[in-house]
Amino acid sequence: MASESTPTAGDTASERGEAPESALETARHQLNEAASLIDVDGNIVERLNYPAAVHEVTIPLERDDGSVEMYRGYRAQHDSVRGPYKGGLRFHPDVSREECIGLAMWMTWKCAVMDIPFGGAKGGVVVDPKDLSEAETERLTRRFANEMRSVIGPMTDIPAPDMGTGAQTMAWIMDAYSVQEAETTPGVVTGKPPVIGGSKGREEAPGRSVAIISREALNYYDYASEDTTVAVQGFGSVGANAARLLDDRGATVVAVSDVNGAAYDPDGLDTHEIPSHEEQPEAVTRHADETISNEAVLELDVDLLVPAAVGNVITEDNAADIRADLIVEGANGPTTFAADSILDDRGIPVIPDILANAGGVTVSYFEWLQDINRRAWSRERVNEELETEMTAAWEAVRREVEAHDASWRDGAYVVALSRIAEAHESRGLWP
Ligand code: NAD
Repeated sequence: MASESTPTAGDTASERGEAPESALETARHQLNEAASLIDVDGNIVERLNYPAAVHEVTIPLERDDGSVEMYRGYRAQHDSVRGPYKGGLRFHPDVSREECIGLAMWMTWKCAVMDIPFGGAKGGVVVDPKDLSEAETERLTRRFANEMRSVIGPMTDIPAPDMGTGAQTMAWIMDAYSVQEAETTPGVVTGKPPVIGGSKGREEAPGRSVAIISREALNYYDYASEDTTVAVQGFGSVGANAARLLDDRGATVVAVSDVNGAAYDPDGLDTHEIPSHEEQPEAVTRHADETISNEAVLELDVDLLVPAAVGNVITEDNAADIRADLIVEGANGPTTFAADSILDDRGIPVIPDILANAGGVTVSYFEWLQDINRRAWSRERVNEELETEMTAAWEAVRREVEAHDASWRDGAYVVALSRIAEAHESRGLWP
């Protein structure tokens, strides 16, 4: 891989006093690296380095005490050559225009890797949801939905939950949009409660796909699930579901963490006994006999490491200290471009986010199909079809990894970029 960007010891970004690589910088590096592996029109790659549009709105929120505060919201739409824009909505203090663009780019690749007829988008509001009451969160969400009404829609751009948002947030957006359109429109968002058109199995789908891809990767590298040790950073929607499914399949999950730190047991934790973020927010360390820090989780000597919390946690500062044999990315963008290069040099395979956690958008696609047809699928059907789609995507990526002797990330990008480039070539660039 790009060894030319491998830093020398004592020359890391933090030692140089530089800001960590942004999601957008990482996404662009990854795109251009993958483009160098295949015969793809440079003009299309140039186009894909930029979002088609970034919408920015100001949201006035009346607090419960009657005061008014202003919040900023974004929706970045990257590329829609293969279908409507699709991507999550984040309520988090670190949301920024740049981050939304980078995450929107990843959504474009993710949908293409999965061969789903959607493009990529991402949005969010700069807010710490913990600072708001439920009534305030509802008012903020409804106003945001209204401000974005002209750019979202079931055939244009379909938001979904991400950090700080969930099924209830999607229900408010669907309602706000439907009231304004004077038509019940479940397909405008995915990740809704099943009672209003949400899909069974959507909530656990990203974690389920992480578990499926982990199983495939462990098989590929000749590990037996029963003998595998696993550490998971983040015990939310993605991390908790992935940890529990791996636990159920016989793996020994030695550490799981939340923002406060990790529960650790070298003999294996009972992951069902530890409350997930949704069941009891940030309570992991209160259910542990032994705790370790979040940084230490990443450096445990395990077979499989699943970073499933936030982005940029494996950087050039700690990549040399990672002792896992294999990394499967649950979060979006947990590994920086520089860290990827170090891990590649050290022979530690990294199965990328755009493949591993793509179960979320895949079941979102199933939900959208169910909404259009006004017909719900059973949980068994959702899980069966997810299994089929995930193993097909794994095979497509594996073929490119072997054909190009490439990393798993490059293999996934090659699959995605080839499909997107073909669609652009076929449709042409509007003059
Ligand atoms: P979540 O809010 O359900 O859970 C996040 C977990 O990470 C919590 O346990 C929280 O305590 C922990 N955490 C937060 N900040 C942390 C930090 N600095 N260090 C360690 N732990 C920290 O979120 P989620 O939906 O599981 O999303 C996690 C990641 O997965 C994000 O990168 C998200 O973009 C990505 N993702 C989510 C979905 C989805 O549908 N939920 C789909 C694909 C990818």
